[in-house]
Amino acid sequence: MLRVGLTGGIASGKTTLSRLFAALGVPIIDADEISRRLSKPGQAGYKRIVEHFGKDILNADGELDRVKLRAQVFADPAQRRRLEALLHPLIFAAMDDTVAALGNIPYCILAIPLLVETDCRQRVDRVLVVDVPEAVQYRRLQARDGLNDDGIRQILAAQSDRQTRLQAADDVIHNDGSLAELERRVERLHQRYLHLSTAE
Ligand code: ATP
Repeated sequence: MLRVGLTGGIASGKTTLSRLFAALGVPIIDADEISRRLSKPGQAGYKRIVEHFGKDILNADGELDRVKLRAQVFADPAQRRRLEALLHPLIFAAMDDTVAALGNIPYCILAIPLLVETDCRQRVDRVLVVDVPEAVQYRRLQARDGLNDDGIRQILAAQSDRQTRLQAADDVIHNDGSLAELERRVERLHQRYLHLSTAE
């Protein structure tokens, strides 16, 4: 089975792209989704986070206050690295288990926002980067999350820059056009991955 790692900057369109591949029947293993599951009360990630960050990071219901945690780690790179060191091994183990359970299929997509920033290149056979100019990221982030320019700058500064990400790519999909265009590009890539999986 071919494992395609999907990555891209914030609001580049990873989720939108994943949905389009999923609609073609491709299994998507989403690192963010796994991370959220592992951070629910009682789960291994939750325990690690509370141990390190303390109960101040919880809301009144005892759940992780994601907005607070995000603000804290984006303001302090050392804390961000710490959080990643706590969670990533758990996330990668869960991803490996999910892939192993997929059975005999041509290919799957592992959506990993920090694929380039973290040490997981060897977990995938190809890297697919969804690429947009920064101006598009700003526009979509403002529209979707209502973030201001400072907030967006902080997040972008914590991620790889566009060039570094593109250098790591085997395949690039540009998402600066319409959704219909994106759909056509996904269909072309889907055919390519089906072809590559038979050549493996
Ligand atoms: P995050 O990094 O926050 O997880 P993401 O990379 O998954 O984001 P999406 O949520 O897929 O990005 O897209 C960001 C926003 O841009 C969404 O509101 C989405 O609907 C919109 N969007 C994505 N692609 C397009 C497109 N081609 N045309 C118009 N809007 C788009």
